[in-house]
Amino acid sequence: MTISALDLAAETKRLLTELGVSADRYIGGTLRVTSPVNGNEIGVLKEHSALEAKDAIEAAHQAFLEWRAVPAPKRGELVRLLGEELRAAKAALGRLVSIEVGKITSEGLGEVQEMIDICDFAVGLSRQLYGLTIATERSEHRMMESWHPLGVVGIISAFNFPVAVWSWNAALALVCGNSTVWKPSEKTPLTALAVQALFEKALKRFVAESGAAPANLSTLLIGGRDVGEALVDHPKVPLVSATGSTAMGRVVGPRLSQRFARSILELGGNNAAVICPTADLDLTLRGVAFSAMGTAGQRCTTLRRLFVHESVYDKLVPRLKTAYGSVSIGNPLETGTLVGPLIDKQAFTNMQSALEQARAAGGKVTGGERVENGAGDAFYVRPALVEMPAQTGPVEHETFAPILYVMKYTDFDQVLELHNAVPQGLSSSIFTNDMREAETFVSARGSDCGIANVNLGPSGAEIGGAFGGEKETGGGRESGSDAWKAYMRRATNTVNYGKTLPLAQGVRFDVE
Ligand code: NAD
Repeated sequence: MTISALDLAAETKRLLTELGVSADRYIGGTLRVTSPVNGNEIGVLKEHSALEAKDAIEAAHQAFLEWRAVPAPKRGELVRLLGEELRAAKAALGRLVSIEVGKITSEGLGEVQEMIDICDFAVGLSRQLYGLTIATERSEHRMMESWHPLGVVGIISAFNFPVAVWSWNAALALVCGNSTVWKPSEKTPLTALAVQALFEKALKRFVAESGAAPANLSTLLIGGRDVGEALVDHPKVPLVSATGSTAMGRVVGPRLSQRFARSILELGGNNAAVICPTADLDLTLRGVAFSAMGTAGQRCTTLRRLFVHESVYDKLVPRLKTAYGSVSIGNPLETGTLVGPLIDKQAFTNMQSALEQARAAGGKVTGGERVENGAGDAFYVRPALVEMPAQTGPVEHETFAPILYVMKYTDFDQVLELHNAVPQGLSSSIFTNDMREAETFVSARGSDCGIANVNLGPSGAEIGGAFGGEKETGGGRESGSDAWKAYMRRATNTVNYGKTLPLAQGVRFDVE
């Protein structure tokens, strides 16, 4: 069967039913959803208005007032049940991710696995929201630091990780005692409906097994930029975690700080790898291929700039070109496919325009053309490898498509400078067996990114570490490590259990 003949609307309907979403949620409305697999319509949704968004936020605030009083380990029980629902639904939800975003099967499933992993992490965390006991200079006093729930957490997410980004934020926000309001990408609302249905299933079980939980603890808002802006501007949303392009962050960041709200900004990347003279080239080839071509170049951590030492350039680059020429491109739902489609026509146009600019700047382009495979209105491309004379023009920007700019280098200190000379600062890696180079790369004078890896590519992070980047990537951190602190407010408490009132710094203020 040709790709365009696949009845993805019927399969989407079956999957949504299996995942607990009733048909009236995705039939009838104004938001048309198409699958990048073959360009066919798979749903039409009603959008929320900005006014409805406001009401939903008020309701979420009421939910927060109740939820914050539930002990954290009990809150963790809700997230444990959510993890169970996700485990049971992994195959169906993973398949839906592949249909709605065009990810290959293992990546669709991997995205759901990431949700399960963060639920497990958050359950453990629910018993570890530790504060500190701090030495005080006053006798018979105790000073401590405590962490309290914050309020409604707004989540704005991008199309390319349509469900995992919600879970990174929501699992932590919920155990931290907050309610959440989620505005997914307008390109991927169907997987969001499915996740909301799974959350509601977990909530029902939680109420039945463990007692009360408020309504509106997790709310889903369907819509575009205006609905996102309602979330950004509402005074009862003390924190918005916004994932998407740097252009979006430039609008959202200042609007949040204008009203002194917090933000977690997870924006665009322009990630690089440095290939050193001692690199294991077999391992490098696989690391580069996955990071640069995987997810059709549509990860925020996708490898976009490759610096290859002159001594290994002629050994590695021809092998890479062979891999680029032979990688299997096509229906992401079929086993064996490694590169699926771009999300839409705009992504294809942006890719072609970046390649034109690269040619104009002296780049030698291999690949990059549209792959005609009977997929109708879908956009499949051969990943492009572009040998560039210098880091100029399109190399300095993120084009959300599979383009790898390859540059030759001679000197290690110089390549570190080039590595850091772009405005973005998300992820990075070095391939070397030289301990000095490896350690320098991850040191203070090495990579300036939020993620710096050795002997693996820049993409494919685990949930245990804090995820995010510097500079125009926005500075936010979510997921593991102590990222949870962003979802809570910190209070310093001093308790006097004595009978006198000594003042700090020896200040005297004696009244009769
Ligand atoms: P996008 O910026 O077009 O949209 C992201 C989200 O922001 C969508 O939900 C959109 O509706 C919303 N939005 C846009 N303008 C807004 C505004 N003014 N106010 C409120 N909401 C607004 O991004 P995209 O095309 O969906 O995703 C691709 C981009 O996301 C790439 O740049 C990629 O690098 C980035 N990304 C970053 C991370 C990260 O963790 N750093 C992760 C995934 C994707």
